[in-house]
This record gives sequence, structure tokens and C-alpha cells, in this order.
Amino acid sequence: MKRLVDGYIKFKTEVYEQFKHRFKSLADNQKPHTLFITCSDSRVVPDLILQTDPGELFICRVIGNLVPAYGSAMGGVSSAIEYAVMVLGVEQIVVCGHSDCGAMRAFLHPEKLAPLKAVSAWLEHATMAITMANEHHSHLSGLEFTEALAQENVISQLQHLKTHPCVAASLRGGKLQLHGWYYNIGTGEVLQYNEGGQKFIPLDAQAGGDMASAA
Ligand SMILES: [Zn+2]
Repeated sequence: MKRLVDGYIKFKTEVYEQFKHRFKSLADNQKPHTLFITCSDSRVVPDLILQTDPGELFICRVIGNLVPAYGSAMGGVSSAIEYAVMVLGVEQIVVCGHSDCGAMRAFLHPEKLAPLKAVSAWLEHATMAITMANEHHSHLSGLEFTEALAQENVISQLQHLKTHPCVAASLRGGKLQLHGWYYNIGTGEVLQYNEGGQKFIPLDAQAGGDMASAA
């Protein structure tokens, strides 16, 4: 607890003062440009990785960065998507997976999931990813398979996103872009899924290219 309180005191006395004008301008409205869906993992820190300020990212964090297909689980993730797209009018949605994801590792050791009823039920939304990984990456094992699965999971969750009516309508109207990312915790590198090439490539390698074609 002391760690948290000390951090708050530092925020209040140093950081808030630095961003005071921005916080005041955000006091009664927000206009984030991006809905960022990522894992709850403590090592994935979007505002640090992307150097974004308060008010820029509307963040939805959930184990395994899973996006239930529309209608399969009308809860927090579906609500975040609907609100971000229909009310906040975000320009893009990023689904960001990461290395060493516990949710992905769980599939290699299903026996450990047995007592975790809620987690097991939630991971059902990664069924497409598991099927794709088994189909296309069965020659891999251990960490390599887990990484391939995490990336297939990002692609699968992008597919689920498209089943949400508000997302489909905004995509059709050219008002929204979808992107799939994979963050490597150890190296700090972010990869982006390139649908044309059907592979993940460094995000900064296509920074000047057509990001809209990524998904
Ligand atoms: Zn994770």
C-alpha cells in the first residue's frame, strides 16, 4: 500500500502540476482517438509504450486481450467497444497481444486451468486462435508455439471485432481502422499484423505506409 500512496503523492505534487492544463481541459470531456484492447498483464503499459498522454487512449484491459464475438458475452468488452465507437467516435481500434502471456501459456497446460472456472470459461473466446495455431503452427513447441498462438489470437480477436455491428458499420463507412499488434516485453518491440502479407512486421517499419491496410 505504501508503494501506491507514495506514487500518488508524487503524482499530486509533481506530475499533476506538469500536466495541469491538460487535466483541466479533460475535466468534463474526452475525445480519445484510439480504443486500445490489451491484456491485463502488469508488464503491458500502453501509455508508456506509446508515449501517449491522458485523454488519448480509451483502454480496455482483459485477460488474453480477448474480444467475444458479438452476442456471445454481452459484458464489459462489448460495452467498451460500443461506447468507444458509437459515443466517443474513436478512429481506430488496436488489439494488442504480448509475449509470455499467461492466458496463452495456459493452453499448453490445461490441467492448471481446472480449478480456475471463470478463467476457463473466459478462454473459450480464444477457441478460434487455438484452432488456427494447431492448424498452422503444430511444428512449433514451447515458447515458440506460445508466441505463434498469441499472434493468431490477435488475428482471431480482430475477426471477432468485426462481428460487432457498430464496428462493421463504421468500417463500411470508412470511419474506423482496425490494427493487430504484438508487444514483446523483453525487447520492447511492437509488431503489427499486415493482412496483405499475412505476417507481423515491426510497427515502425510501416509507420510511413498505409496503416489502414493492416487489417
Ligand atoms: Zn496476457
